[in-house]
Amino acid sequence: MEKYLTMNGRRVLFDSEKSLLEVIRKENIELPTFCYHSELSVYGSCRLCMVEVVGKGILPACSTLPESNMEIKTNTEQIMEIRKIVVELLLANHYRQCTTCAKSESCKLQTLARRLGIEIVRFKNVLHNELKDTSTYALVRDTGKCILCGDCVRFCDEIQSIGALGFANRGSKSVVCPSFGKELESSECVYCGQCARVCPTGAIVPKSEISAVWGALSDTRKKVLISIAPAVRAAISEVFGLGGENGTEAAGKIVTALKSMGFDKVFDISFSADMTIVEEANEFLERIEKNDVIPMFTSCCPAWVKFVEQYYPDFIPNLSTCRSPQGMYGAVARRIMPEVLGIPKEDLIVVSVMPCTAKKYEARRPQLAKNGI
Ligand code: SF4
Ligand code: SF4
Repeated sequence: MEKYLTMNGRRVLFDSEKSLLEVIRKENIELPTFCYHSELSVYGSCRLCMVEVVGKGILPACSTLPESNMEIKTNTEQIMEIRKIVVELLLANHYRQCTTCAKSESCKLQTLARRLGIEIVRFKNVLHNELKDTSTYALVRDTGKCILCGDCVRFCDEIQSIGALGFANRGSKSVVCPSFGKELESSECVYCGQCARVCPTGAIVPKSEISAVWGALSDTRKKVLISIAPAVRAAISEVFGLGGENGTEAAGKIVTALKSMGFDKVFDISFSADMTIVEEANEFLERIEKNDVIPMFTSCCPAWVKFVEQYYPDFIPNLSTCRSPQGMYGAVARRIMPEVLGIPKEDLIVVSVMPCTAKKYEARRPQLAKNGI
């Protein structure tokens, strides 16, 4: 039997939607949320998706089941004021340095404040437990920008099955952090960066190395190589609407742009990916011949490798000993390019642009260093 409810005076059909929020979004009404993600468990903490259910009062749409003949209103004056107060309270407890924040212009809190027409925050700015954790090469955590939506905590636990982050303390002193308030570097984090991807604010962001690269480019003694991952050129192609298969249309433009910036040589990481595959095939055949450990597992993802090392150490002998394409590129470039360019090896800088935060960690893994490089 078909089920209907009334939404803003209009009759709406619904079926197997698990919450009012899903029904509302299906109707293309943009109800804001911070803590709701369809792939995660329902948390119901941000209170932004409050709607009026006639006869029942103001309820969170994310955790209310749709019922036949329900009458709901999504944007009454009272609801808009509630939403505004929620965002103002979050802003009052937020490190509001938008001009220097890495997430500026893509921050959900900033966007929502603008959309709700918030020009002043009526509450005093109060900050607790602000901590900037720069302990890892991959990510920076800034608790002064955290709005406690819990997205990172649930993503890390429910999807990545790591559980490196959790809530500590209570009430206004609540904070999201690794267990025992440790730094991320000392936690089980595999640097996959999924917490940064779902964080609506600048509270977890990939660590930027842009200044270091500009520094190298402006040092006349240095020769700077750069290599681009295929996913990066495909993404650039998509963002700029260049078309072409797998970013091929963008490739030439990217090379020109990088050369204009001052890079001496530009590579496509596909070339070292081929070397990785050839080496892995050789290793596999060698293992078969020597009756060595099989199956042999390989992955170019340093987060996956760290995950195996931490949680499935019994499988470490099954991992291929070959480096990832980024690792191959770094090693080969350092071996060959100083001679090609006629420079001492200390003056060679090797940069890679990858779609991955864990690659920043991989680039400094001591196991991948040779003679201190
Ligand atoms: S980087 Fe990955 S493992 Fe580390 S805290 Fe974030 S989601 Fe968890
Ligand atoms: S760090 Fe980001 S994702 Fe995690 S609770 Fe804070 S605001 Fe939400």
